[in-house]
Amino acid sequence: MKRKKISWADPSKFLKELHVAEDVVSYPLVQNIIETAGLPVSTVPIGKTPFETDGECWQEMNSGKKHLFLTRNRGSFFKSCPGTSEYTCCGYYVLNVGMNCPMDCVYCILQAYLNQPWVTAFVNIDEMFTEIDAELDEKPEQFFRIGTGEFTDSLALENVTGLSKMLSEYIATKENAILELKTKSAAIENLHTAKHGGKTILSWSLNSQTIMQSQELRTATIKERLLAAGKAAELGYKLAFHFDPIILHDNWEKGYEEIVQLLFNHVDNKDIVWISLGALRYLPSLKNIGRQRFAGSSIFSEEFICGLDGKLRYFRTQREEMYKHLYTLLQSRVARHTCIYLCMESDEIWEEVFGYAPHVKGGLSKMLDHAALSAIKQ
Ligand code: SF4
Repeated sequence: MKRKKISWADPSKFLKELHVAEDVVSYPLVQNIIETAGLPVSTVPIGKTPFETDGECWQEMNSGKKHLFLTRNRGSFFKSCPGTSEYTCCGYYVLNVGMNCPMDCVYCILQAYLNQPWVTAFVNIDEMFTEIDAELDEKPEQFFRIGTGEFTDSLALENVTGLSKMLSEYIATKENAILELKTKSAAIENLHTAKHGGKTILSWSLNSQTIMQSQELRTATIKERLLAAGKAAELGYKLAFHFDPIILHDNWEKGYEEIVQLLFNHVDNKDIVWISLGALRYLPSLKNIGRQRFAGSSIFSEEFICGLDGKLRYFRTQREEMYKHLYTLLQSRVARHTCIYLCMESDEIWEEVFGYAPHVKGGLSKMLDHAALSAIKQ
């Protein structure tokens, strides 16, 4: 008998145990999460961790991703994106709501970056809202594009924590900000009833089917992602898509062509605010980690050069070829107001691919602000 394929539309299903820091046990949010998750719970004394680890963090990630640690963020929640001066940065603000996620992508930078194998969600959200308030109120003339998908996936835990719904309702009350929730899941049910005021952009990372199936473990299928995107648009959310990381593989041209076609079969182009393109880039230390954790993967076997930011990336001609291919496919399908941009690339590459550098249109940050503001007014 053929076994039914498991759906990972909701990756939080992979969690097997909750760990709660002693000083947050009484928080109403924590009590809600415990009730919703219905998982075994252990209390973690102050200064201790959910479990002892020996060896490198990445060696314990397979099992670590089954554990969710609820704790306080003792650092700051809100920061401008740490882009590099060598490449064009988009002027994004990162909201640090947690670390790691239950999905498992071969190319995930967090494997080389984190020093704890479990998934963490920060629950001192009153402090988080106070911090965002202070920043937004202090600079009323500035427009903030804020995202939670830098150190985790924005919706991977939504069915357990409900945090993205709270955030979208909060941003709806703010004049000078929009929120982008970036995901590889399809867990949008909790957002169905959010009073988001058209100020939240739901965005999906897309890749060719070959890459999604072989390099993105426990993620939603392309069909699940695009059906969720279509539903989100029906609910009044604006949409965005990220072809990132674009990865070289057999028949990559055809693979990305199919996804672009599927995208526009499921989504009305007028609902798309922006689409980004970014070729695979990674810290040198990720190569060894990825090869050891995912022995069957060959994505690190191509030739790479070290960029000005210390990350390895494909040769310039290869990147340009990939971007031009995708840009040609997208250009014929997108609406006029959709901003297509390159993530962390130089002016020279912009000129080669798009025929202009971002400063011609006021800079990438302004281009994206303009796209977001136009979408809000629609
Ligand atoms: S979904 Fe994002 S955060 Fe999660 S493993 Fe993949 S790249 Fe990392």
